[in-house]
Amino acid sequence: MKRCSLPDGTSVPALGLGTWYLGEKKPLEQQEITALRVGIEGGAALIDTAEMYGDGQSELLVGKAIAPYDREGLFLISKVYPWNAGKRGIFDACEGSLRRLGTEYLDLYLLHWRGSIPLAETISCMQQLKAQGKIRRWGVSNLDLHEMQQLLRLPRGGGCQADEVLFHLGSRGIEYDLWPWLRERRIPVIAYCPLMQGGSLRRSVADSPVVRDIAGRHGITPMQVLLAFVLQQEQVIAIPRSGNPAHVRENLAAAEIVLTPAERS
Ligand code: NAP
Repeated sequence: MKRCSLPDGTSVPALGLGTWYLGEKKPLEQQEITALRVGIEGGAALIDTAEMYGDGQSELLVGKAIAPYDREGLFLISKVYPWNAGKRGIFDACEGSLRRLGTEYLDLYLLHWRGSIPLAETISCMQQLKAQGKIRRWGVSNLDLHEMQQLLRLPRGGGCQADEVLFHLGSRGIEYDLWPWLRERRIPVIAYCPLMQGGSLRRSVADSPVVRDIAGRHGITPMQVLLAFVLQQEQVIAIPRSGNPAHVRENLAAAEIVLTPAERS
């Protein structure tokens, strides 16, 4: 499995597991747990969740899925709502995530998106959570270049370990400014919706003759082409979501696919 380095030197798998909408349908619970375990055992032992997802249902499902594994072998990411990301809300929010996940600590705690609480206050709270051992490191999500520049100018802002943003073959806006800036600072992008939500975000790209042609040449599916495209970028972690064990196996296989430079561009 390809790996990616965080600014603090930690090495994590470049392929992880998204969990939005997982845990929301009781009849699917066992299948979704199996899907997450297939991913973990296949080396994608990085799991992305959030207090927002299903109002905690996703974290509860992840907690059940990870229960049999050695905690140190997993990399757990959760996210705090922007309105909880200050001294009044973050400590309870973090405690809630830890309780639902059944763990003592998060590997990475992200500000879900920029809200009205000053970034300096969020950073100071993140530092306190780190000192308390509740989180190992912190980062952000959905911050654009301007917001990242603001963040890194603040005291301890340089502690940010990742920016989780939208990135897929049909949405490559970050390539123009945010991503080169992050790369210079060795801050990885965590790419969400790498499969365009099963193609639905950009049907014209997912179903395009170009994607189908590349899939045919490699004997893979169009979804695997989309994922391989994201995974072959430098300093990018992809977190496709699947509640279907067969799809997770395909996603693991996509991590081994090598696209040519022309196919990648
Ligand atoms: P996604 O991963 O791009 O797509 C998920 C969809 O693709 C599901 O419908 C899934 O269906 C399908 N799928 C997965 N593997 C497949 C395969 N091999 N073949 C065919 N279909 C496949 O979309 P996403 O869930 O929106 O994004 C990924 C993760 O990023 C989220 O789950 C979440 O953890 C994170 N996220 C973060 C933010 C943020 O603001 N930070 C925003 C959006 C998402 P099946 O279940 O049937 O496989």
